[in-house]
Amino acid sequence: MASDSVIVVGAGPVGVTAALALARRGLNVTVLDAEAEPNMSPRAIVYLHPLLPDLDRLGVLDDMRTKGHLDHEGFNMHLVALGEVLSAPNTDIEDLSPTPFNIHMGQGEFTTIVLDHLARLDNVEVLWGTRLTDLTQDDEGVTATIDTRDGGRELHAAWLVGADGGRSATRELIGAKLEGTTWGERFVATNVRFDFRSLGFFSSNLFVHPTHAAVIAQIDGTGLWRCTFQEDESLPEETVEERIHQYFRGLLGADASYDLVAYRPYKMHQRLATTLRAGRVLLAGDAAHLTNPTGGLGLTTGLYDVLALEEVLPAVAFGEAEESALDRYAADRSRVFSEISSPQASHLKRIVYGGLGADELRELTQPMREMTSTREGRRTMLMGLDGVRSPSLLATSATA
Ligand SMILES: Cc1cc2nc3c(=O)[nH]c(=O)nc-3n(C[C@H](O)[C@H](O)[C@H](O)COP(=O)(O)OP(=O)(O)OC[C@H]3O[C@@H](n4cnc5c(N)ncnc54)[C@H](O)[C@@H]3O)c2cc1C
Repeated sequence: MASDSVIVVGAGPVGVTAALALARRGLNVTVLDAEAEPNMSPRAIVYLHPLLPDLDRLGVLDDMRTKGHLDHEGFNMHLVALGEVLSAPNTDIEDLSPTPFNIHMGQGEFTTIVLDHLARLDNVEVLWGTRLTDLTQDDEGVTATIDTRDGGRELHAAWLVGADGGRSATRELIGAKLEGTTWGERFVATNVRFDFRSLGFFSSNLFVHPTHAAVIAQIDGTGLWRCTFQEDESLPEETVEERIHQYFRGLLGADASYDLVAYRPYKMHQRLATTLRAGRVLLAGDAAHLTNPTGGLGLTTGLYDVLALEEVLPAVAFGEAEESALDRYAADRSRVFSEISSPQASHLKRIVYGGLGADELRELTQPMREMTSTREGRRTMLMGLDGVRSPSLLATSATA
């Protein structure tokens, strides 16, 4: 078995980015996805500024800049009950970052851009309509059993990366459990055409409102916005569209004219796989961890998994690092999720959607109030978004 071959299961945003990063490091990559084409449903849209130099290094940033919306306005939390807006614009870090802006674009559009770049590489093959159903491994490599339109067959590679999302078959096949909690509320993500700026919204908003709390963000320059609100999970999912219109009438005004373009109700979790590595198999993205998306840390954490993987897997495959580097990948990405992504997203969800009284809201947001009140504080806050990056996992190996 050639030690430089890898199967990536899942052509979602994490799988395709992993494929691109690993292929550029010289691995031969086969990507497989159970579906016939990329999933374009409304999901993640924000690519935070500290990740953009990495996406530039991978060659996709120019296309993202052309096709996405550049957000220079950064963090904006509207505390309606307190009559305050706490802001930290990205213009405050113009001298600190080569990319002092976030990019907004649907994750389906992002995936499509990365797939275009994969198509230009000789050492990548993408197989659609190809589902992983079983896997075995030995000291030499991994055998993946796949189901295709033409029947079942086996694929062999030295390594396998499971980036097959929240219901990951890879995770199940390596015997990992998804531990944590599922929220009792449902999120409803909507794509809607409306001039939110006319109501005082910025490119990106945490709208903390007693009855109409939402995360609201501009998706592109065509007037398309994302508005995600929360509702009780016991409400019938079949009638969610009626409640979306009720919600918008309440938020925008009874006579407001808007166009609901797409929507998707979904369950939210704070869950982490019990292991991110079993021998030659590694997990990344939603296959490894699931968080509610308040603050945009779901996909973000998955893309930072890719950066860690990009460092360790080629080094191990080419015999430049010990396999223990893969254990450090598993341990550090678990640490990042349980110490940073998950608690931050849960804290933000509580502030935005928790229906808190004025006193509690003032107290919980006091650290942000202090940070956003000075330029230095805002700079620290914005640069701190890189906290979900792992340190070099090879450097650690040199001293281990
Ligand atoms: C409505 C919604 C809104 C969200 N909003 C945000 C947000 O604003 N910010 C944020 O950061 N995150 C957000 N998230 C989370 C974000 O969408 C996920 O973190 C992201 O999709 C993870 O990407 P992934 O590539 O790991 O998994 P996925 O996007 O789920 O991709 C997995 C891929 O694997 C394929 N697959 C599955 N099983 C198999 C199999 N057995 N064999 C082969 N292929 C398989 C699937 O077809 C799919 O293409 C949101 C999620 C939802 C549902």
